[in-house]
Amino acid sequence: MLEAIQQSETTAATIVPVVPPALPAAMRNLSAYLEAIWEQYFVDLPRVNVVQIGYCYPWKTRLGLIRLSLDQKTTFIGINALLQLQQIPEYVLITTIAHELTHYAHGFGSPLPRLCKHPHANGVVDRELERRHLGDYLCKCNTWIDEHWYPFYDAQGSLICRLRSSRARARFARGDAAGVKRNTVI
Ligand SMILES: [Zn+2]
Repeated sequence: MLEAIQQSETTAATIVPVVPPALPAAMRNLSAYLEAIWEQYFVDLPRVNVVQIGYCYPWKTRLGLIRLSLDQKTTFIGINALLQLQQIPEYVLITTIAHELTHYAHGFGSPLPRLCKHPHANGVVDRELERRHLGDYLCKCNTWIDEHWYPFYDAQGSLICRLRSSRARARFARGDAAGVKRNTVI
């Protein structure tokens, strides 16, 4: 779970550790993780619109994305559906959510002013995660992805088919294919 840490130099008080509630065995509660990560590591980040989070497609080459609605009232953070599985270390999920929140802080997928021209310019996301005491999670996440992601992905064939078809059914029931309208996908 999330560890107690000291806040960055920009804030004065000690951050109180926030532990997500007990998670159902088959599903990690994304909203609980988002709230906990925001409070613990991004407490100085203003929430200037509605921020939603949900599981998306079980992509092979993407862990997450962030989108901003055209009216800028809603941000949607999408997380690879496979990250709900307990076989994937929790630090991969935490790092992925923190990565997307960093984009939000930098003005990508959010109404906040853009702090750089490109969302990943010069390793700006990794530097921000390290500044926010998430460097250890980032390092462990990168190592796990490098060593295990593709073998893990390839072993999930039938599950990926089920996740894809359940998402297709959900889209059909909603009557739209895109969900939140967006002008930014990171
Ligand atoms: Zn990114």
